[in-house]
Amino acid sequence: HRSHRLPTMSVSAVGSFWLSPSPGKLPRPRMVVRSNAVSTPMAADMRAGLAVDGGSDLKMILSYVDTFPTGNEKGLFYALDLGGTNFRVLRVQLGGKDERVIATEFEQVTIPQELMFGTSEELFDFIACGLANFAKKEGGKFHLPSGRKREIGFTFSFPVKQTSIDSGILMKWTKGFAVSGTAGRDVVACLNEAMERQGLDMQVSALVNDTVGTLAGARYWDDDVMVAVILGTGTNACYVERTDVIPKLQGQMSSSGRTIISTEWGAFSNGLPLTEFDRDMDAASINPGEQIFEKTISGMYLGEIVRRVLLKMAEAGALFGKYVPEKLSTPFILRTPDLCAMQQDNSDHLDAVGAILYDVTGVKSDLSVRKMVVEVCDTIVKRGGRLAGAGIVGILQKMEEDSKGLIFGKRTVVAMDGGLYENYPQYRRYLKEAVTELLGLEMSKNVVIEHSKDGSGIGAALLAASNSKY
Ligand code: BGC
Ligand code: MG
Repeated sequence: HRSHRLPTMSVSAVGSFWLSPSPGKLPRPRMVVRSNAVSTPMAADMRAGLAVDGGSDLKMILSYVDTFPTGNEKGLFYALDLGGTNFRVLRVQLGGKDERVIATEFEQVTIPQELMFGTSEELFDFIACGLANFAKKEGGKFHLPSGRKREIGFTFSFPVKQTSIDSGILMKWTKGFAVSGTAGRDVVACLNEAMERQGLDMQVSALVNDTVGTLAGARYWDDDVMVAVILGTGTNACYVERTDVIPKLQGQMSSSGRTIISTEWGAFSNGLPLTEFDRDMDAASINPGEQIFEKTISGMYLGEIVRRVLLKMAEAGALFGKYVPEKLSTPFILRTPDLCAMQQDNSDHLDAVGAILYDVTGVKSDLSVRKMVVEVCDTIVKRGGRLAGAGIVGILQKMEEDSKGLIFGKRTVVAMDGGLYENYPQYRRYLKEAVTELLGLEMSKNVVIEHSKDGSGIGAALLAASNSKY
């Protein structure tokens, strides 16, 4: 099935996935492309979420970031990053216009599984403790002027209802987190309390979503950055909006006339064609009915969708022989990096594919089975990448509708980050192809989709600097 390229802007495409079991044959995944399925409802949901809080699945969160780093930021700043899989601490010495970033240092740890299901205090103690240990090792090129507190840009990558640039209430956890006692609380207060328990005297000057940190970080180097997208464990996108088209601001315009909006597009679901695999995975998840777009396109879930398809093929089509491998019933045993590794296998007999399949099934596979498995991976990853691309088109389309010519009429940069985008070449390619295909060659000419590696840490530190209390 080939995708149609339609000439209008309101076109989007989505892979709809089904199994066509025919007697005596293995069911095979197929892909069909429909138009208008994602970008137009995405743009419509954006508007509904800007009209009034709770107006759509997309929360369209006000970031309180109304100005961008100028390059003049100076001094020592810290950043904390709590996201999906890892926790990071970072310090950066900013040198102003000429020197820009003088030095950076960071440490990263994997978040222990048990902390994701523990109490709020345990999680924030872990963060504050990591920060305290890291702050102790300050020296060398890093220097804090006397009489000043160490200031932090806190990247907290979950849906937060911001109440100011340095406070915000956690609405809900995502990405497999189920920590008790944080939802409904100001996460900066949670961190402050934990820092106090650690005897650590630091000050949060900016609380930001990872997408917002990425946008600010990328914009520090490039004025044309208008959108930032994270595709990692979870997913989200933010963009630069005009305050006069945000009805829920009720006339409170920012002095710049602009502000960054975090869409929380992971919660998008409007008209998404879901398969039985999506539905079953969602029903079995710790947040059923939520984060549906995230569950079809982000790193936490792609491996699990493929596992479910393979299990079905094993049951209905004896993919791995007469018996269905028991291990294959283990949720999340197949991870997205496994899909990626399988898709990079260029060997004649797909040995890497065989090894991974042996790992997750305990069964030896022949070449035809391996090929089929790679085909399934490709189908799911293609759908994910194309949906993400269609989402980006939805955002650009919304922006263009409000400011004719300002998006497609000049260079517009979409800053991308996250492990899935960074490490999965096929995903990246499908995403970009979808954007080009949906916008058409003419309009996509000016759209630059660019990797902004670890931009969110520096971005958060820059926002701490521009919102410094001193
Ligand atoms: C969260 C967002 C975050 C995204 C990427 C989603 O699960 O809801 O706030 O930006 O993951 O980390
Ligand atoms: Mg992250």
